[in-house]
Amino acid sequence: DDLTARALLSGQAPEGWLDADALDGLLRHFGIPLVQTISVADADAAAEAAAALGGPVVLKVVGPVHKSDVGGVRVGLATPEEVRAAFTAMRESIGAEMTGAVVQPMVEQGTEIIVGGVNYPAFGPLVMVGMGGVTADLLADRAFRVPPFSAATAEGMIRELRSHPVLYGYRGRPPADAQALAEVVRRVGLLMDALPEVAELDLNPVIVTPGGAVAVDARIRLA
Ligand code: ADP
Ligand code: MG
Repeated sequence: DDLTARALLSGQAPEGWLDADALDGLLRHFGIPLVQTISVADADAAAEAAAALGGPVVLKVVGPVHKSDVGGVRVGLATPEEVRAAFTAMRESIGAEMTGAVVQPMVEQGTEIIVGGVNYPAFGPLVMVGMGGVTADLLADRAFRVPPFSAATAEGMIRELRSHPVLYGYRGRPPADAQALAEVVRRVGLLMDALPEVAELDLNPVIVTPGGAVAVDARIRLA
């Protein structure tokens, strides 16, 4: 319930971006899937995390807001040694702005979708779903609803997107799990409705594959 959700926020500053643990706890509480994310402080820890995960991994800088813009996202790293080297290179090129890093398993190729929530004091909560990737800003292909809403409504939002056919098997692509995406959108609505202190929530992207939908980049701001 709301009390449990709110307890997860205790100890957080009343304004600003949630730290990784609180973010993880809150998304988990609402059943919003975030890819496993291991925080690492140095190159050794990064290599260890990669070894523990086993497969190809992603290394991401913590600190800068737009990680890829500063060369802070390295995907498809195959071995712990590659991860160690990538961490060192990142530290050198990014410098003091890098407060740490995270290691995640590689999610298989899929359609990148943005799911967001905002809460304007005078208006109340609003949930957005939109196409991600490089064309996201160009096309502004988005749909909005006031939460809470059903999974059917969430699926309606998805079908409102002009480029929604890419999710439903466009030109012989395997259809992505649009139902799993709709469930993520519905659950973001539940979170936004339950916690008015959440000013802003970003899942960018949620990667949607034939097998499901999972966020690989998430942030929440309290105000
Ligand atoms: P930022 O938005 O700060 O640049 P992201 O974490 O969104 O960084 O990563 C940028 C891009 O890297 C994503 O849009 C996605 O294409 C790819 N990516 C990030 N994490 C993963 C992952 N765990 N598995 C597969 N691809 C990923
Ligand atoms: Mg992102």
